[in-house]
Amino acid sequence: MAASMTTSPQTHLLPQTNNPFLNKPITPLTSTISLRTNPTFKPISIKCSATTHQAQAQPQTQTHSSDRVFNFAAGPATLPENVLLKAQSELYNWRGSGMSVMEMSHRGKEFLSIIQKAESDLRTLLNISSEYSVLFLQGGATTQFAAVPLNICKPDDAVDYVVTGSWSDKAVKEGQKYCKPSVIWSGKSEKYTKIPSFDELKQNPEARFLHICANETIHGVEYKNYPTPSNQNGILVADMSSNFCSKPVDVSKFGLIYAGAQKNVGPSGVTIVIVRNDLIGNAQDLTPVMLDYKIHAENNSLYNTPPCYGIYMCGLVFEDLLEQGGLVEVEKKNKKKAEILYNAIDESNGFFKCPVEKSVRSLMNVPFTLEKSELEGEFIKEAAKENMVQLKGHRSVGGMRASIYNAMPLAGVEKLVAFMKNFQAKHA
Ligand code: PMP
Repeated sequence: MAASMTTSPQTHLLPQTNNPFLNKPITPLTSTISLRTNPTFKPISIKCSATTHQAQAQPQTQTHSSDRVFNFAAGPATLPENVLLKAQSELYNWRGSGMSVMEMSHRGKEFLSIIQKAESDLRTLLNISSEYSVLFLQGGATTQFAAVPLNICKPDDAVDYVVTGSWSDKAVKEGQKYCKPSVIWSGKSEKYTKIPSFDELKQNPEARFLHICANETIHGVEYKNYPTPSNQNGILVADMSSNFCSKPVDVSKFGLIYAGAQKNVGPSGVTIVIVRNDLIGNAQDLTPVMLDYKIHAENNSLYNTPPCYGIYMCGLVFEDLLEQGGLVEVEKKNKKKAEILYNAIDESNGFFKCPVEKSVRSLMNVPFTLEKSELEGEFIKEAAKENMVQLKGHRSVGGMRASIYNAMPLAGVEKLVAFMKNFQAKHA
């Protein structure tokens, strides 16, 4: 097991002696064996490029990180390898409970311990005070585009939105069904490459809340600090889906933070809402029960069946982030990865270009184009041959995008940069 792991592109980043899951042989699941020895069992043929033969020869429960790629997808995205291995080791029988987390009652003591630990670790990571509730919800950040105005304003309340990319644009479009929003700044005419200076924001002093998207996943623009609502009682609301837990954040500046989990902290299906307690309990009358923060807060996110397995995975990621030394350490790593990638782009004499203004470039999503745009398809194809996948830019902007979330190892970014240099040497 350990020997095969050394062939991984990512393995040298995993301190093997510290990682019990790498050194411990993983027992094949008996259910898998019986399926495989059952003559009527027909394996489903799912092609997994380049690894098909190897994967079929191995019991599904054995993990070889040589099978894994560097996945630059924007989300769902790469997860920490040690978290996946831990989940694998606990999949069949969670800590002696005799069942998988997927099979547990969400009201049983086992799952309660999982969700409570996840919340407590997240509170530690982000230093969230007891003035805030932490909710584990469903419906993605897209549902929050509606839930936020439904919960914290009345239909006639004025609200300010800053539109720095496609996601904040979607938020305002959904919001206008439930309040009276104004777009007080839009970066559309400059192709969403900027964040405004805060003096440029013509805030309405009556606005109930000021909504921002802390990191625009498609356009790669990220706030480096945050505006203050000009209304003294105004509330700063942030969509942090794509930079959640990538760096320390002063939660006390915000009334509400929401984030889909599937970029930095877990699988899709979990949406995290951090909301100041005094904002809970005034939802508009038509608010569906599933969107009412009061219902979820009073029931500790267990009003209905929550996405149990996803919450468990988020909990493992939070534990891992704490073990890394917390978000101060995580941010250092993210800055280093982003720096070497942006340097490679900026030092390519225009062969690669990043359209985003330097001061607001995202540490998480790095969009770039090729001067010779006709080579972009080849770039993406050749990179995939070298096990670097999902580098195609979003369909709305084209070009390339490398998402380098917390779980992308430095080695992945180094490999991409080396590949970019070779590609340039071949095609310049
Ligand atoms: N906001 C941002 C910043 C996003 O990146 C995304 C998803 N890519 C969304 C909102 C929508 O999230 P979901 O698909 O979870 O609804």
